[in-house]
Amino acid sequence: MQKSPVKDLLEWYAVEGRNLPWRESSDPYQIWISEVILQQTRVAQGLSYFQRFMERFPTVEDLAAASQDEVLKYWEGLGYYSRARNLHQAARTLITQFKGVFPPTWEELLGLKGIGPYTARAIGAFAFGNEVGVIDGNVFRVVSRYTGDFSPIDLGSTRKKFQILVDKWAAEGDPADYNQAMMDLGATVCLPRNPNCAACPVQEHCVAHQKSIQHSLPVKQNKVSRSVKYFNYYLEFDPKQQIKVRQRPETGIWAGLWEIPNEEVEAEAWNEKAFSQRENLLGEMKHVLTHLDLMIRVYRADSPLPEGIGAGKFISMDKISIFAFSRAVLKIFDNYLPKNS
Ligand code: SF4
Repeated sequence: MQKSPVKDLLEWYAVEGRNLPWRESSDPYQIWISEVILQQTRVAQGLSYFQRFMERFPTVEDLAAASQDEVLKYWEGLGYYSRARNLHQAARTLITQFKGVFPPTWEELLGLKGIGPYTARAIGAFAFGNEVGVIDGNVFRVVSRYTGDFSPIDLGSTRKKFQILVDKWAAEGDPADYNQAMMDLGATVCLPRNPNCAACPVQEHCVAHQKSIQHSLPVKQNKVSRSVKYFNYYLEFDPKQQIKVRQRPETGIWAGLWEIPNEEVEAEAWNEKAFSQRENLLGEMKHVLTHLDLMIRVYRADSPLPEGIGAGKFISMDKISIFAFSRAVLKIFDNYLPKNS
């Protein structure tokens, strides 16, 4: 039977573990916020968001009392805005149903809006010492390489198998340190393309290293297929040089955020317009989402936009910073707003 990596991992973590602000605390609120920010976000980028968020909303009471618009503003640029809306709703539930006190087991945490198995286990292990393993993409990679397991990591059966194993490992040591150590190993040593096996504390018993198959693992069954959508965005100004903006619906992509008038079109119409309206075309950009590429062309509207596209309100340019916009719209502002405005 393969040796457990836990002892070697914990010794390594005591010396090499990353120094991150949320690790200095066992406050479930701070751990929750940091975990949600770090989903789909690199640590270097998430750090400043975490600090600003905690300064403005230092407790779950502060978060619950804020407006959704303000919470979204503090999330602006991070993407995946449903995370911010869910945080806000869950904070309100914690106040109204739990008197502001986090339930101390990961199973109970699962009932809160936006808290799935990953986040529930992370809060459970880091704040309350629940003996559970947390599996993110880094941990999947480490486990499949350490055990030399070619089961596709996007299958539920693999997840179940790995979960049983990491739960067992978490119970062998301090669950918080064990989980942080696994994540750090994946983030700094067992890297996707260039695993640094020479510096790895679990190298001696790692099957992938022994068989030199680390570059073939992990395996995925279904490669993500990407699709492309085409959009025209419009910068429309009134005679006072105020810009037109509007709020997106409460559901769907970028729900509740602000934007400028725009329309989705077919590729052919997208290209025809660029030709027929070329004098108003300001430029083109590609915005990449997880499974989707957005091809965006930006136009100056030299006359009022038709009703279907152009509903919205005019705001003065110095008010732009008050509203929360998606990263795509912020890019448009950066690239195409008149610089003297
Ligand atoms: S020995 Fe190499 S492949 Fe194995 S866990 Fe360490 S870094 Fe990853």
